[in-house]
Amino acid sequence: MDRSQPTRPTLAVVVPAYNEAAVLPRFHARLAAVLDGLDASGSIIYVDDGSRDATWRIIEELAATDARVAALKLARNFGKEAALTAGLDQVDADLALVIDADLQDPPELIPEFIARWREGHDVVYGQRLARDGETWLKRATASAFYRVMQRLSATPIPPDTGDFRLMSRRVVEALRGLRERQRFMKGIFAWVGFRQCALPYRRDPREAGSSKFNYWKLWNFALEGITSFSTVPLRVATYVGLITALVAFGYGLWIVAKTVLWGNPVAGYPSLMTVILFLGGMQLMALGIMGEYLGRLYVEAKARPLYLLEAFRPARSGTRAVAA
Ligand code: UDP
Ligand code: MG
Repeated sequence: MDRSQPTRPTLAVVVPAYNEAAVLPRFHARLAAVLDGLDASGSIIYVDDGSRDATWRIIEELAATDARVAALKLARNFGKEAALTAGLDQVDADLALVIDADLQDPPELIPEFIARWREGHDVVYGQRLARDGETWLKRATASAFYRVMQRLSATPIPPDTGDFRLMSRRVVEALRGLRERQRFMKGIFAWVGFRQCALPYRRDPREAGSSKFNYWKLWNFALEGITSFSTVPLRVATYVGLITALVAFGYGLWIVAKTVLWGNPVAGYPSLMTVILFLGGMQLMALGIMGEYLGRLYVEAKARPLYLLEAFRPARSGTRAVAA
């Protein structure tokens, strides 16, 4: 092994939470029970992603009663990716684990994650075996998304992998170097590399509350993934343009032949329409694709911070959390 593994590592669990008041107490009870039984000293970093319900109050209560709890409050809802980043930025432990607050990722798996890490893996990612409680439409769109990503991205992104994962310190440090605004975490996690392995698990249905992701958000999420990790669409635009030109040419020939054979009451009109509509449509589409990339460049160029902290309470014991 190329590095020494501490016999009793420190573990920081990062939990992004947005309007999770209904499930958070139950989540904490299960997570705390798991941490108690671990051969590692654990701490928990709750990140309130600008919740509008009682989430922050509950997190503060948990921090007051459990010395291992650190509490972060973002200034508004920055999205799960930013919340995760905020949490990971605070980690000062040998290991960091990312888990959803809604109990879809079972905390009881943590010992298995650590066992895989002990085998010498830097990243152990949870891979979903079953998606209980999700509609066939969500399953179908998710699988289509992973297939498209697989073909388009230069970085292979493991399918059915969420953010539920364990990372070694050097991976967390590597992640800190990736400050891009377009945070497609699945891709970012894959991009850093190191020795990664999958831990298959059954993804449970949500315990309470509702999913924060609707189909429009998922569609945008898919666009985000594709444009952040692939420039293939730009090249596709070139080929679509070429093919269009060829088809338009063929169609043009046919119109000429038709006019010669049967005549045409409105001279020139059909061929004109063909050319205008075909080329106009294709040009708009190519512009749209370029716009997608340009818009992202624009956002990236502004280099705004990824999130803003409104409140921070370090853990009173366990692993030390570093101040922002
Ligand atoms: N989440 C967040 N900010 C958001 C949306 C979600 O921190 O803007 C958190 C949420 O509280 C949960 C996790 O991200 O802990 C996963 O969210 P959700 O369960 O809604 O996603 P799904 O499981 O449906 O993919
Ligand atoms: Mg969920």
